[in-house]
Amino acid sequence: MVDNLTFQKLSYGLFVLTAKDGEKDNGCIINTAAQITVDPNRISIAVNKANYTHDMILKTGVFSVSILSEKATFDIFKRFGFQSGRDTDKFAGYEANVKRGENGVLYVTEGTNAFISGKVVDALDYGTHTLFIAEVTEAEVLAEDPSATYAYYFANIKPKPAAAPASEEKKVVWVCKICGYVYEGDPIPEDFICPLCKHPASDFERVER
Ligand code: FE
Repeated sequence: MVDNLTFQKLSYGLFVLTAKDGEKDNGCIINTAAQITVDPNRISIAVNKANYTHDMILKTGVFSVSILSEKATFDIFKRFGFQSGRDTDKFAGYEANVKRGENGVLYVTEGTNAFISGKVVDALDYGTHTLFIAEVTEAEVLAEDPSATYAYYFANIKPKPAAAPASEEKKVVWVCKICGYVYEGDPIPEDFICPLCKHPASDFERVER
C-alpha cells in the first residue's frame, strides 16, 4: 500500500525561488531544494511547470533560492505563492525586503535565514515538474533563525480557520490544507481549484463546524 500521509513525514523546507528574465523579476514558493554534492557544489530543485518562475529558469538557466525561516509571515506565502507573476509584479512595494545577488536575481532578506544562487547544468522533465540541477554560484547566511519546515508552516504560520459560533447549526465546509481558503458547500466539485493558492480539490479537507 501507499499511504499518502507518509509523505507529510518528510522534513521538507520552504523556499522562495526567484528568477529574472530581462527586466522581469519573479518568484514562487517551493518545498524542494537540496544539496546533492559538495564538490562540485550542486543543488537540485523541483519546480511545478505551472509556475511562471519555472519558464523563466528554463529560459535563463539562473535562479536563487531564499530559505524561509520561522520568522516568515503568512504574507510572504500569499505574495509569492498565491498569485501569478504572469499578471502581477510580486516585488511591488517589497523593495525593502529584497537584495540583488551577484547573478542579478533578487533574493528575499525578510523572514529568511540564507540564500543560494544556482546556474542550471541539467533540466530533467518529470511530467508536472522539472528537476533542475544547478551549480552553486553564491551562498550566504542571512540570519540564525531556524529554517521553517513544511510542518512548521501548517502548525504555526498558516492562519487557523475561524471557529463557528456554538449556537449555530453545524455546517459543512471544505478547507484548503495549503492556504486555509474555505469553500462553502458540500461536496466540493472534483475539478475545483483553490482561487488563492491554485491547489486542487484533493488538497481540501471536509470540516464540520
Ligand atoms: Fe488554497
